[in-house]
Amino acid sequence: MSARRRTASVATAAWRSRSQPAPHRAAHNPLAKAVAEVRFATTAPCRETTPPSTASVEYVRPKDRIDASAHLAGDATHALGGGTDLLVTMREGLVRPERLADLRAIPDGDAITWAPDGSLRLGATVTIAAIAADERIRARFAALAMACDAVGSPALRNMGTIGGNLCQRTRCWYFRSGIPCLKSNGSDCPAVDGENTHHVIFGGGPCYATHASDPAVALTALDATLTIAGAGGERTVPIADFFVLPDPDPKRETVLKAGEFVMGIELPAASSGGRQKYTKILQRGAWDFALASLAVVRRDDNSVRMVLGGVAPIPWRVNPSVEEDVASAPLADDDIGVLAERALYDAKPLSKNAYKISLARALLREAIAFAN
Ligand SMILES: Cc1cc2nc3c(=O)[nH]c(=O)nc-3n(C[C@H](O)[C@H](O)[C@H](O)COP(=O)(O)OP(=O)(O)OC[C@H]3O[C@@H](n4cnc5c(N)ncnc54)[C@H](O)[C@@H]3O)c2cc1C
Ligand code: SF4
Repeated sequence: MSARRRTASVATAAWRSRSQPAPHRAAHNPLAKAVAEVRFATTAPCRETTPPSTASVEYVRPKDRIDASAHLAGDATHALGGGTDLLVTMREGLVRPERLADLRAIPDGDAITWAPDGSLRLGATVTIAAIAADERIRARFAALAMACDAVGSPALRNMGTIGGNLCQRTRCWYFRSGIPCLKSNGSDCPAVDGENTHHVIFGGGPCYATHASDPAVALTALDATLTIAGAGGERTVPIADFFVLPDPDPKRETVLKAGEFVMGIELPAASSGGRQKYTKILQRGAWDFALASLAVVRRDDNSVRMVLGGVAPIPWRVNPSVEEDVASAPLADDDIGVLAERALYDAKPLSKNAYKISLARALLREAIAFAN
């Protein structure tokens, strides 16, 4: 087991190089300063070897939504997007499906469709790369394009689908290493007294794993709605209600019921335009999950949405009373600081992750100034 010393960095560099100055290069930038001050040791827990399943897995290509619903009706079949997470969890022995239903075969599942009113529909199998590269999305829903640009590596963005990205499993080391815990078949959470550097500061208990998706954070700030399909037909769920906290059931991460899958994502015209931004702080310069991130949207109707990522089991919407105060008036520097502290009021760090409060504070200050 080796300990590595790391310095965090702000990495939305690919986007910034095209459209914005790089704030981490500006010596006076408070966000860059907060990031530069974060130095910590990471120690990966020992890996318990859970043998991967050697059983053969059937692969099916549903021809439409009804066919997919029929295949997914039993626990034995799992939805397959790009496979960048599912195949890894299978190899790690965390899931053992008997059948994979490849949702990419559903016609128009990867369509990007604009309605005349300016709202946007993304099929669940649109790739992360396609969203990041779409010029109209970059212009109208910039926070989403920036978040997609910040996902992993080019290969992951090219293979990964937006539906799979929202439904990916947590990256908690213990869970991923097959160490028994509340998400698997254990009776407690080893992260509480163990290695919790990357865990939550909001909304934790009894599990403290963070939600890993960058796009989910932006989609929450953009008031997206998900279309969910299953044997009983279709239903729509606001993304703010899609992800669930680990209390009372740490094994549950979304409201998806057995056999249901995400069909598409709708972004309302009211969220398009205005001022939008997604900022992500990583431990490494690239190819990494967020230590902390923030999507901020100041809409054309002047309302403000701010959502933190990497700090909670779900995308963490900042208290609406703070958003309202950000929207209401021009703010002086002191006011910005006061509002950032108010947004952090409920933060409860674990033994090794208080640094996330400093990161979130810096992100909030920057976002409030941006939306002001
Ligand atoms: C090294 C590495 C770095 C990464 N970095 C980042 C990062 O920085 N930011 C980030 O956001 N992500 C990151 N990821 C996650 C990556 O983006 C996801 O693996 C990918 O987006 C998942 O998409 P997929 O289509 O491959 O999903 P799959 O692997 O096919 O599926 C993932 C899960 O979702 C389920 N699923 C798939 N599609 C649907 C659907 N339509 N409805 C319901 N359930 C579904 C599957 O059954 C499975 O449980 C990283 C992954 C790796 C391996
Ligand atoms: S934080 Fe959650 S996923 Fe990680 S060890 Fe604890 S219970 Fe398991």
